[in-house]
Amino acid sequence: MIKKPELLAPAGDLEKLKWAILYGADAVYTGGPLLGLRANAKNLTFEELEEGCKFAHDRGKRVHVTVNIVLHNREIDEVESYVKKLEQVGVDAVIVSDPAIVKIVHDTTGLEIHLSTQQSTLNRKAAEFWYKHGVKRIVLGREVNKDDIKAIRDSVPIDIECFIHGAMCAGISGRCVLSNFLTGRDANRGGCSQICRWDFQLKEDGNELSGENDFTLCSKDLSMLSCLPEMINLGITSFKIEGRMRSIYYIATVVDIYRRAIDEYCNNPDTYQYNKSYENILRNCANRDSVPQFFNFKNDESIGYYNGRVEVSNQDFLGVILDYDEDNELAFIEQRNYIKIGDEIEIFGPKKEVKKMIVKELYDEEKSPIEVVRHPQQKFFMKIGFSVQENDLIRIDRTK
Ligand code: SF4
Repeated sequence: MIKKPELLAPAGDLEKLKWAILYGADAVYTGGPLLGLRANAKNLTFEELEEGCKFAHDRGKRVHVTVNIVLHNREIDEVESYVKKLEQVGVDAVIVSDPAIVKIVHDTTGLEIHLSTQQSTLNRKAAEFWYKHGVKRIVLGREVNKDDIKAIRDSVPIDIECFIHGAMCAGISGRCVLSNFLTGRDANRGGCSQICRWDFQLKEDGNELSGENDFTLCSKDLSMLSCLPEMINLGITSFKIEGRMRSIYYIATVVDIYRRAIDEYCNNPDTYQYNKSYENILRNCANRDSVPQFFNFKNDESIGYYNGRVEVSNQDFLGVILDYDEDNELAFIEQRNYIKIGDEIEIFGPKKEVKKMIVKELYDEEKSPIEVVRHPQQKFFMKIGFSVQENDLIRIDRTK
């Protein structure tokens, strides 16, 4: 059997941390109360981190915490006590960008140091430099191709973490200051306004160049699903999913799909077959095109949107199962999107076979028959002729 890479999932808050682990992540990364990016994510308090670490460790999983801001002099003094506290509450590793923080963590704690993608490491010499300075793992820049990864893998005994799914930057990750200059929000302190996705008019000498559609700098998303076997064979230590601001449904779905694909390949590489329906599920979960970006050397105009794009609102996610009454075969459900009699649906849960069915019987909370469930968060009952569990999710069937 091939060695499985770690599947690393984003956890913007404690609830997402638990869902990511329940749905198959081997490790999660999250923000602590200080010194991390993602200013808008609900970063975890020390108490929540402690609870999250216990939840993860009880299940043999790990928690990594971002301490990856670009540090100012005024913040140096608080780093030491902060990282010691992270170690105390059970965190396994810190994701660090600034060399000052690398040194402080190395000198004062036993925490694993993971170098953030914010350092844009793309070559073996840089990897060697960081390895000599106590870094255990490098999160490579998203701009590496497969030869870059192999060269680093072959020359430095450092763990390698690569992004496999999620949003990309139009500029080199961690180097963009468009947001800082144009909106006053610092991308390197977690405040990026994603200005690259805005629509612009492109002009030269007062003449409109952008044509019929407005111009954007926006990159398509990353998806490495189609390259997964190749990535696994490269010996990458950890596969990282982007998206601490994403919903629970997004996290559960993306983790679940990659968990299945990794396990299917590693358990039986000779008979592994690429599952196209996984790709459809991932695409509908994010509403944006996704491609392998730089991995296959193809970094031309096909990896971005330059002349407008359409983002269709996602209505795949239909509901969360809250309870199941075996005797009456009735699931108690909280609605997320319009669901009606006749819908073809899938029900999925952590490490379980995905079950398909057609909706035949719906009931309101008083158990009166209804045809449609219209309202977000509305509670209702559905007849399901097989056993389901709390936290299983319902989505539209996209396999055809
Ligand atoms: S504005 Fe766009 S390219 Fe710049 S940091 Fe934000 S997401 Fe990345």
